[in-house]
Amino acid sequence: AKVLVTGANGFLALHIVTQLLAQDYSVRGTVRTASKGEWLKNHFSKFADRFEYIVVSDITKEGAFDEAIQGADAVLHTAAPFPDGFAGTYESIYVPSVHGAQSIFKSLLGSTTVKRVVFTSSFVAMMEPHDPGYTWSETDWNDNASKLVKGSPHELSGYMLYLAAKTDAERVAWDFYHNHQKEVQWDLVTLMMPYIFGPALQEESNFSTNVIYRKAFEERPKDQVGKHAGLWSDVRDVSRAHVLSLQKQQAGGERIFIAGGAFVWQDVYKALQTLNNPEIPRPVEDSDVYDIADTAKAARILGLDYHTFGESVRDTLEAMQERRVQ
Ligand code: NDP
Repeated sequence: AKVLVTGANGFLALHIVTQLLAQDYSVRGTVRTASKGEWLKNHFSKFADRFEYIVVSDITKEGAFDEAIQGADAVLHTAAPFPDGFAGTYESIYVPSVHGAQSIFKSLLGSTTVKRVVFTSSFVAMMEPHDPGYTWSETDWNDNASKLVKGSPHELSGYMLYLAAKTDAERVAWDFYHNHQKEVQWDLVTLMMPYIFGPALQEESNFSTNVIYRKAFEERPKDQVGKHAGLWSDVRDVSRAHVLSLQKQQAGGERIFIAGGAFVWQDVYKALQTLNNPEIPRPVEDSDVYDIADTAKAARILGLDYHTFGESVRDTLEAMQERRVQ
């Protein structure tokens, strides 16, 4: 089967493509520039007969994906801005995410080959404000962010724009699906996941993996004591969830929440003690409150299991350090 993966050079997508190729799928990846495509072609040179790329320079343009989806059996739409430190504007964060979703779904209206679409949403699309200790599940939607962006889009922080972008883009996906379910031959799965940690396969590190590095080496640990952190996931598990979402019939029409669990900042230091690195702060006992991730649906439908937080954090850092040494 042939799978179209948008934003194929991203931190998450690179893992997804790797897993798809290992499972004998053919993959067409979209990238914004030919040089990124050539990098991928080189990276996947062992699979030259099953990997190809196509340049989609502006995903917001109507018809941008018309050519890319030709002959694809399934689509994984991962491309969306995820800027370091949430730096950006309405135009750079919100518009590409939401208009990019509109554009790919419009193209998909005419597809006669695609059977399943998996849309990479985010935990932020669920993340309305709640007190620490809240139990998160698929019924949560971040209506707060959607409301704020409708009111004053140009006054919001990059962080709030990202929350609104992911929420509204996922809404676009479901609205398209519900409005056109009878005309199209595909069904929809959306996946929501929190902070993705784990080893990067490319040179550049990702914003979410940088978070681990910064917490471990750059920020003062005492500032983080007693501070609630949130939920996490591992890139290897999240990409496995994408592949399983293609394979499990029952996933069709489902919004699925994926998370390895909850963490507080002290857990990062705890996980890294085995490295015996004097630069890594000693953990202190604290009284943090953990959120709860109700991931029963992912377990039931996808049969997903997870790396541990310790594995994920250590592997994140190890991969970063290897690159720094090279
Ligand atoms: P990356 O930044 O590594 O990858 C993002 C991908 O989207 C890249 O291929 C990038 O292309 C592409 N992209 C970014 N901006 C645009 C744009 N304006 N137009 C077209 N393509 C664009 O991030 P991740 O791999 O972490 O993120 C992948 C997906 O996962 C995103 O949808 C993100 O929202 C979601 N996600 C990520 C989480 C995390 O913690 N990392 C958590 C939850 C969800 P280019 O290289 O050309 O910029």
